[in-house]
Amino acid sequence: MLALPFPALGEWVHDQQSIMGTEITATVWHEDAAQGKAAIAAVMAEMRRIDATYSPYIETSELAKLNASAAKQPVQLSSELSLLIDRSLHYSRLSGGAFDITFASIGWFYDYRGKKQPDAEQQKSLLPAINYHLLNYDPERRTLSYGHPNVRVDLGGIAKGYAVDRAIDILRRHGVAHASVSAGGDSRLLGDRRGRPWLIGIKNPRQKGPDDRDVVLTMPLNDVAVSTSGDYERYFVDEKTGERVHHIINPKTGRSAQGVISVTILGPRGIDTDALSTTVFVLGVQDGLALIDELADFDAVMIDAQGKVHYSKGLQAPTE
Ligand code: AMP
Ligand code: MG
Repeated sequence: MLALPFPALGEWVHDQQSIMGTEITATVWHEDAAQGKAAIAAVMAEMRRIDATYSPYIETSELAKLNASAAKQPVQLSSELSLLIDRSLHYSRLSGGAFDITFASIGWFYDYRGKKQPDAEQQKSLLPAINYHLLNYDPERRTLSYGHPNVRVDLGGIAKGYAVDRAIDILRRHGVAHASVSAGGDSRLLGDRRGRPWLIGIKNPRQKGPDDRDVVLTMPLNDVAVSTSGDYERYFVDEKTGERVHHIINPKTGRSAQGVISVTILGPRGIDTDALSTTVFVLGVQDGLALIDELADFDAVMIDAQGKVHYSKGLQAPTE
């Protein structure tokens, strides 16, 4: 065996797995590679737990059970689901309903892979069920009931950001100080890349092929959550109208939000940057940037339908 002059001082460990309908990646520095691997395994296990608890497609998930019963009677929530509902309602109020987890009342009937969308009749009858005011949420008792028989809730706009927060907590507990974790478009960075910043790229939303997408902007960042919402993640083109039908729904219309094609939000926690990326996508450039400029800890980069890039005030060069 080759004798090293110095003991190895640590190693980068990386893993990528398909969970929650997306790619989960984790890159971690640890003094002991085996412990680094164990830390990443704990992160992947947590991602699987979150998927099993909040996937609307898994009948035994807490969310699926909620959707099955809450229109009939109040349902007791776990403290974690309660936290996710609470935060979701916070962003609904902050955005005048642009963020609304009851979007799923219609959203449930979109099938992006099968290129299917609710017909005009369904749209009309289900639109009244998109309204966060129909969520009778009691934070003290931690109960939730739905005020309309057709209400459905989906946490797809907030759960991945929450998941990367959980990942970072787990890594910290494993003694990790430098890490990058992402769940699809939601990432969180812990520390730096050992003396260098992490580099986070914003993809070109109109480049063909998800894997070879160009990067329009690269940001050197540390210790931050970054969430991107794009109309290129899950979509199909309606052959009749030529319209891009994608997964971010404007709660006012029950249809895909138009005007913006990519929104990236920077902030301290993924639960907030995730919800805000979806919120700002629905709000559009003007109202979206106005909201971010009001919030002290957040910044935004948006690409509009013409390809123009817009920045929140915190990212603009100071004017004289
Ligand atoms: P993101 O991945 O953060 O871009 O969020 C998109 C996901 O959020 C969608 O796949 C839906 O699950 C969910 N979603 C779509 N529209 C809304 C909305 N208006 N409010 C809350 N969640 C939404
Ligand atoms: Mg989001």
